[in-house]
Amino acid sequence: MSSFLPVLTAFEQQSIGERQPLPERYLGLSDAEMTARIAAARATLGTRLVILGHHYQRDEVIRFADYVGDSFKLARQIAARPEADYIVFCGVHFMAESADVLCASHQQVILPDLAAGCSMADMAAPDQLEICWEELMQMGVGSTDATGRAGVIPVTYINSAASIKAFVGEHGGTVCTSSNAAATLRWAFERGQRVLFLPDQHLGRNTADKMGIPLDDMVVWDPHEICGGLEPDQVQRAQMILWKGHCSVHTRFTPQQIAQVRVEHPGIRVIVHPEVPREVVQAADDSGSTEYIIGQVEQSPEGSVWAVGTEIHLVNRLAQQQAGRRTVLSLDQFGCLCSTMFRVSPNHLLWILESLAEGRVENRVTVSDAQKHWNRVALDRMLSIQ
Ligand code: SF4
Repeated sequence: MSSFLPVLTAFEQQSIGERQPLPERYLGLSDAEMTARIAAARATLGTRLVILGHHYQRDEVIRFADYVGDSFKLARQIAARPEADYIVFCGVHFMAESADVLCASHQQVILPDLAAGCSMADMAAPDQLEICWEELMQMGVGSTDATGRAGVIPVTYINSAASIKAFVGEHGGTVCTSSNAAATLRWAFERGQRVLFLPDQHLGRNTADKMGIPLDDMVVWDPHEICGGLEPDQVQRAQMILWKGHCSVHTRFTPQQIAQVRVEHPGIRVIVHPEVPREVVQAADDSGSTEYIIGQVEQSPEGSVWAVGTEIHLVNRLAQQQAGRRTVLSLDQFGCLCSTMFRVSPNHLLWILESLAEGRVENRVTVSDAQKHWNRVALDRMLSIQ
């Protein structure tokens, strides 16, 4: 039975809004029944339906996806299926918002469980960004230099709300993913003297570090402090202004885990996602986006042994796919699970698909017209940066 549905904490309910309950008749179904009914609903909907699945989704959901990928790959898939009326996004809320911005006007984007948010995205609120920008200007970093570069270029990780992406688009910035973060920073530094990077300080720091930007040229902006907790001269000297946000899943990885796995498996290769803290990247052999991690493992010599520091569903799936050829272990022995990704269950997917087959759209995600234009500008810039 695949009827386990996680319970939200009070903080989570507050941070992601009201949750739509799954109708009771969709609880307690057997895997076999759900599989048969999902297949029947898909057959009814035919090419009017496309299901996108993020790598961090559980197997019981991902096996129904037409396309599987990270945020960047899935964002690119949206244009590839113009005939689909319904885009069912098995991922989290900010991904569905971006899909709504990128899709055609006749397409509707659906998130199977509206409570599937992202704790990192919740760490940057639009009013905090407005205040930050105003304070940065007051701190004297708004002026264009002699070569025409702006004082600050805002760059937001795709793991952020549509309101944040709209602000960034309107202020000359762009969106990045972990796949194109370095290219995005190069793009931004061609246009600006410094970068305000949000909401993930770790992706910003790790990417800038790999590009050779000294740590002394990076400051952390705390949105809960006046002027981010910084003095004007600190901000003026900085190349990178890192928003104080993080992923609660990837910050669980530690250098101690890497030391331990090297003792237990001499010769093991360790690869981690760049949302982990810098000291973990430094202790690992390699780092990169989920697509990069998969590619490195798949291209490694047969018999290789890997410890992977990212969400457990991706790691387990990779381990299964590589069984008999390469060994893939989770860097965290208990496995790091993204509880918000886990909210999308096969039960929710079945409910959504049967509703669509009956002509009802449940859990549609839309971005307001007021925000759509600048979101589109920011996301188009992201898609143009290789
Ligand atoms: S893994 Fe982290 S960044 Fe990704 S959706 Fe989950 S909480 Fe958000």
